Amino acid sequence: MSYRASLNLPKFAIPVRRPARSPEHAERLRRLWAEAYAWQLRDGRPRQVFSLHDGPPYANGKPHVGHALNKVLKDSVSRYQLLRGRQVRFRLGWDCHGLPIELKAKPTQSAAGSDSAEPAADCSPANQIRQRARAFADQCIAEQRLAFQHWGVLSASAEHYETKSPGYVARQLLAFDRLHSLGLVYRSFLPVHWSDSSATALAEAELVYRDDHRSDSAFVLMPLIRLSADASAPEALRDSGGEQQPRHHLLVWTTTPWTLPANAAVAVGPGMRYSLRRLPDGRTVVVAASWPGFGGGGGGGGGGGGVELGEPLAEFPADALIGATYRHPFSNAECPVLPSDHVTEDKGTGLVHVAPAHGREDFQLGIKFKLPLVSMVTEAGRFGGPGLSESLEELNGRHCLTEGSGAVLDLLRRRSLLAHTEALVHSYPYDWRTGRPVMLRASSQWFLDTAGLRDRALTALDTVRILPDREAGAMRAFVAARPYWCISRQRVHGVPIPVLYDESTGDPVYDSQLTRRFAEHVAETGSADSWFELSADQLAEKFGSSELRHRRLKKSGDIFDIWMDSGLSWAVAGEAGDLDADGQASLCVEGQDQFRGWFSSSLLLSVALTGRPPYKSLAVHGFTVDETGRKMSKSVGNVVDPEQYLPGHLPHCLPQYPPVQPTAQVILRHGPDGLRYWAASAGLAVRPEIGDRLLAAADGHVKRLRSHLRFLLGCVSDLPLSETVRTAICHPADAGYLALLADFVRSIEAAFDACDTGAVCRQLEQLLSQAAGPYLAAVKHRLYCFPADSPDRRSAQAALWQSLRAITMATAPVLPHLAEEVYAALPVDGFGGRPAESPTSVCLEAWQFPDLSDSSDSRTLLGRQLLALFRLRSAAFAGSDEFAQAASAAARLSLAPLSAGWELLLANDALPWRPEAKEDPRFGRLAETLRCSSVRVVRATEFESLRAADRRVLTDCDLGDVGVLVEEVRPDVSSDCPRCRRRVAKASAGDTCGDDELCQQCADFLLDGWASDAESSETATRR
Ligand SMILES: [Zn+2]
Repeated sequence: MSYRASLNLPKFAIPVRRPARSPEHAERLRRLWAEAYAWQLRDGRPRQVFSLHDGPPYANGKPHVGHALNKVLKDSVSRYQLLRGRQVRFRLGWDCHGLPIELKAKPTQSAAGSDSAEPAADCSPANQIRQRARAFADQCIAEQRLAFQHWGVLSASAEHYETKSPGYVARQLLAFDRLHSLGLVYRSFLPVHWSDSSATALAEAELVYRDDHRSDSAFVLMPLIRLSADASAPEALRDSGGEQQPRHHLLVWTTTPWTLPANAAVAVGPGMRYSLRRLPDGRTVVVAASWPGFGGGGGGGGGGGGVELGEPLAEFPADALIGATYRHPFSNAECPVLPSDHVTEDKGTGLVHVAPAHGREDFQLGIKFKLPLVSMVTEAGRFGGPGLSESLEELNGRHCLTEGSGAVLDLLRRRSLLAHTEALVHSYPYDWRTGRPVMLRASSQWFLDTAGLRDRALTALDTVRILPDREAGAMRAFVAARPYWCISRQRVHGVPIPVLYDESTGDPVYDSQLTRRFAEHVAETGSADSWFELSADQLAEKFGSSELRHRRLKKSGDIFDIWMDSGLSWAVAGEAGDLDADGQASLCVEGQDQFRGWFSSSLLLSVALTGRPPYKSLAVHGFTVDETGRKMSKSVGNVVDPEQYLPGHLPHCLPQYPPVQPTAQVILRHGPDGLRYWAASAGLAVRPEIGDRLLAAADGHVKRLRSHLRFLLGCVSDLPLSETVRTAICHPADAGYLALLADFVRSIEAAFDACDTGAVCRQLEQLLSQAAGPYLAAVKHRLYCFPADSPDRRSAQAALWQSLRAITMATAPVLPHLAEEVYAALPVDGFGGRPAESPTSVCLEAWQFPDLSDSSDSRTLLGRQLLALFRLRSAAFAGSDEFAQAASAAARLSLAPLSAGWELLLANDALPWRPEAKEDPRFGRLAETLRCSSVRVVRATEFESLRAADRRVLTDCDLGDVGVLVEEVRPDVSSDCPRCRRRVAKASAGDTCGDDELCQQCADFLLDGWASDAESSETATRR
């Protein structure tokens, strides 16, 4: 006889497997979220603002896995804040200027691609490059936005900001005007890679390093004049011969002799040791004690040339030299010996020639010690200009990298200051277009006064919360160490620096009115191109004040550094109403490199212009590496395109987007949610890994969540939800589970508040494996077999409803696709927290759990006891192979609530959850919760005698205070109930129940006349 009709089987509202999604479905969800996002922005109810200010990614390529990580983190946190009732302002942004985009817009860059028919870059007018760069950026924005929509970013369909928009550019120009009026910008020299063959500064990306470059390296003698008064130098060194007849020389090695006229100091390594040695001509030189001599210590080229050094006359630490002075080889100037960490023992003589105009380290040393910065090299790469002294007139006009270098060596020889020369073959940067070597040359640039802002910025930083905690010191370190910020670039695609220059002196002629009127012009006409198209006179005439008239002016094509663009995004966000009531972003989330990038530039500019940081908290995530820990790189070939893991195609809204051909081994069955789960579980990890294995694992977690939520939906389908379900709780297991659920909700809140989506995922996994899963298994018997309206069954359903609500809400920020599907399948319209007039989306629900608010001691205790019982059960059965087999067999039986024919004997009085008096050990709540045939609690003494007795004990274990014996319920004194599938011992020896007979409990239920009630279950879907 089949008792199936008498059972209350779950009615499943969503399928086990995520159905294949049509483009229409994706489009419906996209619209739903666009509506929900827009609705909460205009909702009139008072809401606290949560402003997540988006650090703009570069609009220079296709969406990649770094975007996925960053945007999913941001989206998860903002979706959570929306559930918390905040008004979420999360406007996406894009960084549209800068070299990477400009290079993509240059035809020669893509010579290997399809644009080879285009004219060469040098022939392309700058405005053509600008147009192409803008079009390229637009295309990248469209593609990236489409991917962000595909991944379910809530605000991905709303308006965005971009650094090339006219309003943004106008705002930036006005900010520069303000910075200028505050005296926070200045013009100075900075060494940059300079190509005289292209007459332009080059960025690192435009350099090609050739290993076969040949230089004439020189060992130069610099006469030592005097030592520092407080230096503890040995006598031999101290006996220097004085200013007129210097006896000792510093022996300096350089591969760029042409920079020697610009020498301003000699640097020594602070921790190094030096020695005094004799040259063949009798003069004594200071070199590093470890220096092996000519031919071996320079760059490894050439032989010693027969020049041998004598044995060391004295050895001393670098301190003896620091503060000493020497005579400049080409003038009578007295120059200092300085300490610098960039001096090492593995190259040269340990004494480094410092020319601040021609080296980055030299420049920073120059800033630190206020060395004179003179440039005597013209844009054509020749000696000349105001920096070249009269004594060096014979160098004038000579090309530095070729004949000029030899001329400098000749001068040194005539002054008897050249000890030796060696040819050196080494790696050297070349202009990638002309194939000619480049030089480091100082040119006039604009700077933001970071030194003047540093202390204010550090003070402002004290008010910023930085997540995770381990990163708190890093940002301070970067701000404190930042030596200077050069805000000008010699490129064509960017925001023009609105300054004109005196035609004869080249000095800047700043006119505030010109900047402000030009900014208005940009905002009105939608373009800043007229700056590049008009002459200086025309610009002065059109925008400038009367003071500019009658002056002979020129302009430069300089544009702003892109960090100056993006560093002002907070100001544009403020005008758009995207920030909070204090004019700050609640949170910014970016990769670690933004400490020195966008986080820093935004902080400095905001402190300069408003006196406060632009954000209240920062969260930093790592950079994705592959599963072997290698960085993503095109040359390694391990770059991950997130779309390749997703089944099907991107949504059809942009028809020109090519369908994605899956190439990855793993296809995420759960679609974007699988990808999102990977990103969320990576969270703020230092080195988040990605690869087939981890993505498959993430997909598995989504699958488990889906299956669990589906089951919860099925179990509550007949729960009368019109009345409050709180009062229904009457079973200790249910009350205990609600306590565990309350703990879970609190842990999710803490995790989201710390921006730690990784912890959110871990909490979800832990809940399912340790509490929700075992609980569901434990209550199935009640749900299926008890009368539909029985208090025990309703109590379980009420707890499951709370579980459904809590897990769905906790899942919704991370896996919105799954949460929306569950939400739409609820037996009632929502969880009751969504405003009636709002779009039907789970993201507008309220994060409220009134039914979990009971935090009384008794309930908390029940929660702990329930967990203890779950652990007890798994520990008791863990060692039993027979049980494991029986359990897996039982799992295959579609109706069996996984109870097997075992009796548990629990020893002693410490058992947390005492059975009620007169409780039948076979049908009591302990047996039900522990899912076994019967549970008896016995005294410790009895337990020991039972253990010793000749009974068929399958396993025994000692769980702290509770001893457990597991015994098989022997088939000859038991039977399997055909209805509930439990194996139940006969009540007494005379009991005559056969294999087809109902257990006592089922018989009672059916006797109660309840069977007819269950007719409606007949159509229930089999699990
Ligand atoms: Zn039964």
